[in-house]
Amino acid sequence: MNSPGDTSRRDFLAAGLGLPALEPGGLRYRTLGKTGLKVTTLGMGCVLITDPSVVARAADLGINHFDTARDYQGSNSERTIGPALKSRRKRLVIGTKTGAETTKGVLADLELSLRELQTDYLDILYIPGKKKASEITGEVLEAHRIAKQQGKIRFTAVSTHAGHAEVIGAVLRNPAIDVLQTSYNFTMEKQIEGLIDAAAKKGLGVIAIKVMAGGYRPGGRRREGVMPAALKWVLRNPNVHSTAVSMADMEQLEENLRAVPEPFTQRDRQLLAGQLERIQPLYCRMCGRCEGSCPKGLPVEDMLRCLTYAEGYGQFAYGRENFRMLPAAARKVRCGDCAVCPVDCPYGIQISARLSRAQEIFA
Ligand code: SF4
Ligand code: SF4
Repeated sequence: MNSPGDTSRRDFLAAGLGLPALEPGGLRYRTLGKTGLKVTTLGMGCVLITDPSVVARAADLGINHFDTARDYQGSNSERTIGPALKSRRKRLVIGTKTGAETTKGVLADLELSLRELQTDYLDILYIPGKKKASEITGEVLEAHRIAKQQGKIRFTAVSTHAGHAEVIGAVLRNPAIDVLQTSYNFTMEKQIEGLIDAAAKKGLGVIAIKVMAGGYRPGGRRREGVMPAALKWVLRNPNVHSTAVSMADMEQLEENLRAVPEPFTQRDRQLLAGQLERIQPLYCRMCGRCEGSCPKGLPVEDMLRCLTYAEGYGQFAYGRENFRMLPAAARKVRCGDCAVCPVDCPYGIQISARLSRAQEIFA
């Protein structure tokens, strides 16, 4: 189901992937809330991009929303995608993120981002990965105010993948924030739908992340339809204006482009039910319920996230890189040594076994 405001880009195939079987219909556009930006519902998350030709191809095929961050790919992501997007800049919506926590730090990072992305403005600057309302600070918002005044950014966004109710509640109350980026996929509890609806009603632009719920592909096969079904599930919701879907290669780009115009079917529903059962013991939904419950201080969610990069998305090096940035306890405390593990996951993840696995493969 597409929203009434969708428009199709029927000529996008004219650019051609050189593949015969792509169906006509192409991309869909929605308006990113009060920003007024017209964005493709399929947006490109650049966290796994190492090949700039994939980004260039996506832009040529009509995707107009690109999402990156200062620290993706060992701080190389912006440098990789900037030259590929430069000649197409005017028709694109580009967002990036900095985790800096001071006004000075955010503004300094913004200068770096502008340089590496080879542009003199950003459409969206994110306050990323917030789990608590108190993490959206006056210091950081002040940097955004200054950057807006200087014409260096157009809109402010907050991204979250844990503590949704609290963080989205704070976003709704803060008129300085224009865009919400939130995890949203078929594994999540119903509560998220209400929060997204409230954000859209308030005029916020809404961008979904973690759309593929870890990207776990049964038996490593790519074309069995689970990932397209996951994308279609998210795009059914007209209050989601765009997505930031990680696409590392042409095959993933092509698979997602094919899915956009397709309806969500009963078969998709069955595929996702099977996938949910399969990934239940593996995929951390980052619900936050176990936060702080390891008495030895292991950052459970973050360690599981690194494992998902490696085992779900198939990006071992990226998983290891993120694992190495975690607090020292993640490497020093031997998880398997506890007689009993008090960390309980309501979704059935065997915490001790999974964290031991992370320590084993990233050691
Ligand atoms: S491990 Fe389980 S309880 Fe902890 S954040 Fe992930 S899904 Fe939630
Ligand atoms: S088994 Fe691992 S997660 Fe559980 S309490 Fe011990 S160190 Fe923490």
